[in-house]
This record gives sequence, C-alpha cells and structure tokens, in this order.
Amino acid sequence: MVTGSPKPTLKVLLCSPRGFCAGVVRAIESVERALAIYGAPVYVRHEIVHNRYVVDSLRTKGAIFVEELSEVPDNKAPVIFSAHGVARAIPEEAARRNLVTLDATCPLVTKVHREAEIHFRRRREIVLIGHAGHPEVVGTMGQLPAGSIFLVESIEDAEKFTPRDANNLAYVTQTTLSVDDTAEIVEALKRRFPNIVGPHKEDICYATTNRQEAVKRVAPIVDAMIVVGAPNSSNSQRLKEVAERAGCPRAVLVQRAAEINWSDFEGVTRLGITAGASAPEVLVEEIMGAFAARYALDVETVSATEEGVFFPLPRPLREHEPAE
Ligand code: SF4
Repeated sequence: MVTGSPKPTLKVLLCSPRGFCAGVVRAIESVERALAIYGAPVYVRHEIVHNRYVVDSLRTKGAIFVEELSEVPDNKAPVIFSAHGVARAIPEEAARRNLVTLDATCPLVTKVHREAEIHFRRRREIVLIGHAGHPEVVGTMGQLPAGSIFLVESIEDAEKFTPRDANNLAYVTQTTLSVDDTAEIVEALKRRFPNIVGPHKEDICYATTNRQEAVKRVAPIVDAMIVVGAPNSSNSQRLKEVAERAGCPRAVLVQRAAEINWSDFEGVTRLGITAGASAPEVLVEEIMGAFAARYALDVETVSATEEGVFFPLPRPLREHEPAE
C-alpha cells in the first residue's frame, strides 16, 4: 500500500454467536484447574480441543498432550480426557493402571453416549450419523461392543444400509455436523425405515446449530467469509461449508493472521467473520487487526441468538480449590 493513500473501506459482518462453546470452555478450564491443583505436568489424551493456539498455550503451562494412554507414565500425574469423549476401553485401561483420570468430555457428547447405551439395552440396532475417524465418533462407537453401531456418513450410506430388523432401529448423531446435511440423512433413513427411533432432542449441539445459523444469515450478503478455526475442527469445517452453500463466493478457514492469503480478498468490500467452537476470540481479534492494518473497517455484528449455556467442571475439580 502506498504510504499516505487512504485505506479502502471494508464492511465486516461479525457472526454472533461464534467461537468458544460451553463444552470447550469447560475442557480448557479443566486442564488449567488440574494444573493448579496437581501441579505440572498433567497429561491430556488427544488435543483438549481442536485448536493449536489453545493446545500450545496449555503446553507452555505444563500440559503434556498424548494420543494414547500408553504414553502416560505410571505416576500420580492426572490424565485428562478431551472434550470429544473416549471409548470405554480408555477409562477401563486407566483404572487397571490406577491412573488419576479427569473426564473433560462435553456433557452433550456424554448425552449421545447415554442414548446409544439405552438403545443397546433395548436391543435396537444403532445408526451413528457422523464422520469416520473423528475422535467423537471413535468415542461414541467405543461405548458399545464392536458391531453394535453402524456408521452412516452420507445419504448414499443411508440408502445402502441393510439392518438386521428394520423395525428395531435407532439413530444418534455426532454433535458437530451440518444441520442441513444431517436432516437430509435422517429423512432418508426415516423414509426407508419409518419406525426408526431418534433422539428426543437433537444430538447436534446448540453451539453447532447457532454458529451455523449466524453464518447462514451473513453468507448471502458478503463477498467472502473467514472461518477462524483449525482444519481438524469438525464444526469449523462445517461453518465453511455452510457459508459456501448459503451463497458466499469465497469461504476460507484461517487459523492465524499470518496465514491469510491476501489475494483471496482482492476486490472484497463486504467480509463475514465467524469462528469455530474451539477457536478463541483472541484469534478473531488478531485477524481483525490484520484487516484493520489494510482497510478502514466498518464493523457490524449479526446475531442469530443469545447463548447462556454453562457447564460446571468435572466433579473432582469442583471439589478442590486451586492451590495458591
Ligand atoms: S461443540 Fe457442542 S458438543 Fe462440542 S464441545 Fe462444544 S458444546 Fe460440546
């Protein structure tokens, strides 16, 4: 930019709600509280939430991230399970080894685990709508014996699925899916299996639903949309897809300001910004700051709804006051 020339104006529509959900706040606070109570190190199985900035900042405070329990030594350092939940075999193995465990699984993921268990006890064959390999899906499938849950990732999978008994079926879903895609898959299942039993209240969580709703309002009226979030964050990826489908010509996932490819934003006069449920607001601010260095920003918030959800910390952490 030529020094002295006025900055071009950029209208920024900030989606609300965006960023941290109650499950992510609880998971991060669980690690921080555990560090305060037990001292460093505390072990965390899998990224506590899918965000590198969050993981790196907890690492500097003394958290050690591992993928498997076999990487945790047999000592009194606690091991925390991430917000995505874990298969039953994991706490069982930890108990066999007398490890101190703290479960930061989001209560809304635990709710899906309990639903699957109830269906299993009622001898229903269970369909899980979700993405293969995502830790939440691995954790949900791992609540029950192998073969109890059939994974459906798409309408094609739903059309191909052959149950043992079409009249004794149930479905549950991953919490971070596209609301619209999932509705289509559920519709296909219900058309084929009218007696399939579903959740009393949607499994897709309030945070996923609300963030997608805000994006749907903004995407059709901007030239580009930035989703602040990590590539391995399911709900961030879904926000990008929702923006594209709602008519936004360019939707990009960005983790940090340094990653912005400025050529993506040439000619853009109206920009939407949102953030996945695992992305901290400080990263939204960093990215806004990078735009403010190049443009005169005219910022407006577009709100889909207000959120007031709060989850208390896991019980063992509630019962201790942090050490001074
Ligand atoms: S995105 Fe939803 S299910 Fe996942 S941690 Fe947040 S509130 Fe819980």
